Amino acid sequence: MKEQVHAARYWSQDPDGRLRCDVCPRRCALKDRQRGLCFVRQRLGSTLVLTAYGRSSGFAVDPIEKKPLYHFYPGSSVLSFGTAGCNLTCKFCQNWNLSASRQMETMGAHATPEAIALAAQDNDCVSVAFTYNDPTVFLEYAMDTADACHARGVRTVAVTAGYINSQPRRDFYGKIDAANVDLKFFSDASYRAFSGARLAPVLETLEYLAKETRVWLEVTTLVIPGLNDSDQELGALVDWVVEHMGAHVPLHFSAFHPSHRMLDVTRTPFATLQRARNLALRAGLQHVYTGNVLDIEGGTTFCPGCGEKLLVRTGFRVGQVRIDSQGQCLRCGIPLAGHFDPLVSPMPSP
Ligand code: SF4
Repeated sequence: MKEQVHAARYWSQDPDGRLRCDVCPRRCALKDRQRGLCFVRQRLGSTLVLTAYGRSSGFAVDPIEKKPLYHFYPGSSVLSFGTAGCNLTCKFCQNWNLSASRQMETMGAHATPEAIALAAQDNDCVSVAFTYNDPTVFLEYAMDTADACHARGVRTVAVTAGYINSQPRRDFYGKIDAANVDLKFFSDASYRAFSGARLAPVLETLEYLAKETRVWLEVTTLVIPGLNDSDQELGALVDWVVEHMGAHVPLHFSAFHPSHRMLDVTRTPFATLQRARNLALRAGLQHVYTGNVLDIEGGTTFCPGCGEKLLVRTGFRVGQVRIDSQGQCLRCGIPLAGHFDPLVSPMPSP
């Protein structure tokens, strides 16, 4: 299938004539016809283009809990889609067939921003998620789709590694209602060795979203045995989240399974996830979840005031609900952090 080329934003010209993509901290410098590391941004003559515009690797209607977002219209449906390519090179990527794709053939479905917004409405989806691969690399497509969604009253979700420069970050997140951002390690050396990235820009994105935007934010750390599961690293990570983002920000510890170029590391033991969760709760975080495992307690939202079980999940399904339509605890009345709507969130259990 022929690529659809779209003018890219965020680039500049170096004195030596190369064009530099300014979307992410890699800042790829490109000669004619060269592609950036993410593959979907390319120099063609005197300009930069996005070759993934209007092309999707596929669509799915998911529960919002699958992103994971546990405090953003719980129980609602989200239309998920992605393209191809990524600006990180994680050896443990759990979506590597899309993110590491160099083949535009993986992007079969042609979809305009308007068609995506309409499909979300037709399928009773409260939101559209840019997911599967990182929306940072298909920014222009995601932003146009976000505009089309908002014109129809559909919200927008980004699932991302947060590896993005400040100007595109401001523009992109101005059009996003909720984000789940990976915090893969709390070590710059590990980011470099296992993801081909740096820690500082990710922390900048997290702090920016928490302090300077209205984006609803949740954070995910994939816990990988032997890489980032020490008490020391996990402790430093949760202390940073509490201090720089706030104790109300939900943190998801999800289980690794052997994948891509990390097949020699075992699955994350359940006990490791429990240790991480307990450590984060002791550090003061109010909402800490486990993921990729069946764990009723680790999937339950507790009231930060009285400890009531507010949202009890089995897998991605929300069962017991003990909040009112404004997200307040039915027992003590304390508001739960997040976004709730009586029309789209599950009704309280009797
Ligand atoms: S978005 Fe892609 S082309 Fe641009 S700097 Fe990052 S990896 Fe390079």
